Amino acid sequence: MRFNNILEKNGKLYSPDTDAGFTEETVRIDDKPYREWDVRRSKLSAAIAKGAKSIEISKNGKILYLGAAHGYTVSFLSQICDAGKIFSVEFAPRVARELVMLAGKRKNILPIVADANQPNTYYHMLQAADIVYQDIAQRNQVEIFVKNCNLFLKKGGIAMIAVKARSIDVTEKPTKIFADVKRQLEENFRILDYRNLEPMQKDHAFFVCRKP
Ligand code: SAM
Repeated sequence: MRFNNILEKNGKLYSPDTDAGFTEETVRIDDKPYREWDVRRSKLSAAIAKGAKSIEISKNGKILYLGAAHGYTVSFLSQICDAGKIFSVEFAPRVARELVMLAGKRKNILPIVADANQPNTYYHMLQAADIVYQDIAQRNQVEIFVKNCNLFLKKGGIAMIAVKARSIDVTEKPTKIFADVKRQLEENFRILDYRNLEPMQKDHAFFVCRKP
């Protein structure tokens, strides 16, 4: 098993947490119920399915997750880091409400309703993170990512970002945008892996980096 509590079978990922509250079918594997970690709903799942390497997530890891939405990917991470913590930042009140409900069931999810562009507003709530993960569709998404990594990520920690090209510039070719993002990231990190997430996630790329 590459990730704690995650089963990999026939190129798909499954988790035994069938009570997370998302609308999805459960499947039975070896007569036990599992839910699939859907590559179309999670960029992290898509990146793993695309073969991304260097995604190190330990069972007691502390993760800062930016752009948690209602907690779909967070719910799987909470299984992987069952002895760790996922500080989950989301600014949209409607989805944040569902995230808070999920956190009520999972003690290792700490919801933070805040703007990731203003990390000083949640500075007091966080511990140093082993991993910073970001999935935010904003024009300045790389700036937000670097700012948070500078403040919260441990030296040698892993930084993962799902980049949505169309949010940066709708008129530019995604390949050009991804090349620009790569250059920006290289100024701050060592890039360990890069994947284009098509066709699972349209116009998205995924970078795995290490903070020097
Ligand atoms: N990562 C989620 C998952 O896999 O389950 C999906 C995230 S969704 C694509 C992007 C989320 O980022 C949205 O819920 C949006 O409200 C949130 N977001 C965008 N800008 C943000 C910001 N500046 N601060 C916090 N959240 C933000």
